[in-house]
Amino acid sequence: MRDWTMRVAGVVFAVLGLAWVAEAQELERKDVEDKYKWDLTAMYSDNAAWDADYAWIESKIPELEAFKGKVGKSGKDLKAFLDLSVEIGGHLENLTTYANMSHHLDTRVPEYLALRDRSDVITAKYGAALSWFSPELTSITDANLTKWYKDVKGLDLYKQYIANEMRQKAYVLSPDEEKLMAMSSEVFNQSESAAEALRNTDIQFPEIKGDDGKMIKLSEGKYRALMESGSPKVRRAAALALHDEYAKYKNTMASLMASNVGAEVFQARARGYNSALHMAVDNDNVDTTVYLNLISTVKANLAPLQKYAKLRREALGLTELHFYDFSAPIVGEAPNWEYETGIATIKNALQPLGAEYMGGVEDVFSKRWVDVYETAAKRSGAYSWGSYKSHPYMLLNYHGTLDDVFTNAHELGHTMHTWHTYKYQPQIYADYAIFVAEVASTFNEALLMDYLLATETDPEKRLIYVNQYIDNIQGTIIRQTLFADFELRMHRMYENGEPLTAESLSELYRTVASEYYAPEVVIDPQYDFTWERIPHFYSNFYVYKYATSMSAALALSERVQNGGEQELKDYLGFLSGGSSKYPLDLLKGAGVDMSTPQPIEAAMKKFGELVDELEVLLAEQKAAKEAKPKPKRKSSGLD
Ligand SMILES: [Zn+2]
Repeated sequence: MRDWTMRVAGVVFAVLGLAWVAEAQELERKDVEDKYKWDLTAMYSDNAAWDADYAWIESKIPELEAFKGKVGKSGKDLKAFLDLSVEIGGHLENLTTYANMSHHLDTRVPEYLALRDRSDVITAKYGAALSWFSPELTSITDANLTKWYKDVKGLDLYKQYIANEMRQKAYVLSPDEEKLMAMSSEVFNQSESAAEALRNTDIQFPEIKGDDGKMIKLSEGKYRALMESGSPKVRRAAALALHDEYAKYKNTMASLMASNVGAEVFQARARGYNSALHMAVDNDNVDTTVYLNLISTVKANLAPLQKYAKLRREALGLTELHFYDFSAPIVGEAPNWEYETGIATIKNALQPLGAEYMGGVEDVFSKRWVDVYETAAKRSGAYSWGSYKSHPYMLLNYHGTLDDVFTNAHELGHTMHTWHTYKYQPQIYADYAIFVAEVASTFNEALLMDYLLATETDPEKRLIYVNQYIDNIQGTIIRQTLFADFELRMHRMYENGEPLTAESLSELYRTVASEYYAPEVVIDPQYDFTWERIPHFYSNFYVYKYATSMSAALALSERVQNGGEQELKDYLGFLSGGSSKYPLDLLKGAGVDMSTPQPIEAAMKKFGELVDELEVLLAEQKAAKEAKPKPKRKSSGLD
């Protein structure tokens, strides 16, 4: 079911670039120029205004509860209720966003911690005051609704919202049964928290010898950095030590995983869905064929992945390529980017999106909508967030790596999606599903990459860009599809009554991973326990959206760049659509049909072309090195 209270949280977090290298000296906020810091006054002029709004919301909540028992009987009351809940919801969104964003700027400030906690309390109160609404709404007959749409002026604004609720009516149980389901959900969520506690706190990873010979205590974060080591010995030691540690907890982890899958299957069966997969994708009104189609299409197009693995092995001078060699550097390091240089490049890259889009981009960077630099106790990572009453904002922790420039383009994609949606949609449709959100962000990354490749002539820099593009597609489309494939087969095993044990899960993971990465990649037995490491396996059937989004984004970015006015108009229409249509229909309007293999095939074709270019560039690099045994290297700083 779509959760009414979720509309207050339109936050989209970055998928990429969450790991940052801490600077030796941390900046304090007072040391940063204002133009690089958020101006949050578009939400509230000060905390006193926030307090006043809080009091207003609190006073209005009982008015919502007074509609209980009325909206199912009268179209006029239904409209009045929806109008009021949207109005209060808009204030609540503003309230919550301001509190959280203020808190994120300096998480030490008690005043903002208090605002955030208070906003959580009132959000819960608002949610509780609405708990009766969905069952009452879905009990309205089609005949009554048809009549009310005709008789009650303005009710048809809510048609798509109501249709989406009604669509899921078949899976809503009786009020008493729903109450039991709600009570049980708290118990069901325990396996996820237990797995999290095990992964993040209880498991103590051993020390391994790092590049400089010193001992390093492993963690998931350190592990990722060590995978980029130039030494195969260090990579191997880190990978095997990390997975060996997970192996010690395999039985507990398997039991938690089985319990999570079991809870999901129970809920799907209790509600009458065909399967757990059906329940998960139906939330976005997506058909299970989209999911199955992704897996079969990626699998049918894996030859370039094998070729890439072979190129990697040769470039690294290895006789065997193991999983832990997949992030080892085969190209030089990208030069650093000044923040302004990055923006100028992003703006050049986004030119195909036309004058209106670029006008919005101008606002984003000139009106203090971006908080740019890392400062003491600021929230890490990057995101795009805002409220309908203000505008979208972006949080960055910019250090100047190539990744940071891409993160900026990515978050700008979310921000401009929100900007268009706020501009063209009424508040009720001003949010959008994750299924479409990551299309807008990865679309911008694709335009930036295409621009860099179209304008860069220096072979070393081209090599860096091509390699990064390949790694992005490999990590986002192929690896996430492997995970989606594993998830599906794990659920099917449970649904068929096969036990999910440490042995059966590890065997399944080995089978699936081999189908994608073997024979070119050697899969050490320790990797059989990878399933223990993926937190997303507790957000059932979620990861496939990364793969479908990137595929759609690649297809659409080519369509816009090779197309004319109509293709651009289609894409901007998609950005302006919010949740006024279902995700697949929005994408169809933009020009991509995710129910067919075509966009996935196109993405995999692009992957193949990039691997071919990598092959040429690596051969050229090798030839150049052999021709000049003692080359005079120029520094590869930005021109
Ligand atoms: Zn994102």
